[in-house]
Amino acid sequence: MDYPGNLFVVSAPSGTGKSSLVKALLEIDSRLQVSVSHTTRKPRGQEEHGREYWFTSKEEFQAMIERGDFFEHAEVHGNCYGTSRQAIEERIKGGEDVVLEIDWQGALQIKKIFPNAILIFILPPSYEELLQRLNRRGEDSPEVIELRMSNARIEVAQAQFFDFVVVNALFETALFDLKTIVHAQRLKYSAQRRNKSAVFKALDLL
Ligand code: GDP
Ligand code: ADP
Ligand code: 5GP
Repeated sequence: MDYPGNLFVVSAPSGTGKSSLVKALLEIDSRLQVSVSHTTRKPRGQEEHGREYWFTSKEEFQAMIERGDFFEHAEVHGNCYGTSRQAIEERIKGGEDVVLEIDWQGALQIKKIFPNAILIFILPPSYEELLQRLNRRGEDSPEVIELRMSNARIEVAQAQFFDFVVVNALFETALFDLKTIVHAQRLKYSAQRRNKSAVFKALDLL
C-alpha cells in the first residue's frame, strides 16, 4: 500500500515528552494531523474526550475489537489502547500526513500493515530524568509511576526496531530532530514527483 500521505508513528516510555513534542510539532506544521486513539484509561485533569483520546468503556472497546474497527490495539500499563481504521486510512489515501502516538507494540503492528510507515522512538536522557518528569507532571499515582518506570526498561529495548531515534534531553533540540525527519520524508523521490510535478514535467521526467 503506497499512499500519498506519510504515516509517522512516535513511541516512547511514558513521561519521555512524547505528547509535548508531538503537540509542539503540530503547532508548527499545519500539514500534520494527529490520530486520536481510543483508550479505557480514565481521563487525566485537563484531558478532553475526542482531543487527547476517545475515552471508552471496556465493553465498548471489546465491541470495537470484535467489529474489526482497530488497525492495532494493545494493553499498555494495564489499560487498553487502540487506533481506529477511521482515524488514518482515509487521510493518508487523501495525501495527508498523519502522526500516531502509540506504544511500541502498536508501532510494530502498524509497520506490518503499512511497511512505509516511519517509526520514530523517543528516548529519555536517563531513567533518573524520566522519573523526575513523571513526578513533575503530577498526573499519575506513585503506584502507576512505579509501573511505568519498570515498563520503561522493556520499552527502551524496542528502540532498535524503529527507523529513527530521537533523544529528548533538550526539548528544542528534540523538536528540531522530529521536524527534520518529517521534512526528509517529504523530499523522497515519490513525494517530490507528486508535489513538484511541474518541474518533473519540464525536465521530461513525467
Ligand atoms: P500535554 O502536551 O497536554 O500532555 O501537556 P504537557 O504537560 O506535556 O506539556 C504542556 C506544554 O508545555 C506543552 O505545550 C509543551 O509543548 C510544553 N513543554 C513541555 N516541556 C517543555 C520543555 O521542556 N520546553 C519547552 N520549551 N516547552 C515544553
Ligand atoms: P509522554 O507523552 O511521553 O508521557 P509528556 O509529554 O506528558 O510525556 O511529558 C512528561 C513531562 O515531561 C511533562 O511534564 C513535560 O512538560 C516534561 N518534558 C517534556 N520534554 C521535556 C524536556 N526535554 N525537558 C524537561 N521536561 C520535559
Ligand atoms: P498514556 O496513558 O500516558 O496517555 O499512554 C500510555 C501508553 O499508551 C503510551 O505508551 C502511549 O503511546 C500508548 N498508546 C496511546 N494510544 C495508543 C494506541 O492507540 N495504540 C497503542 N498500541 N498504544 C497507544
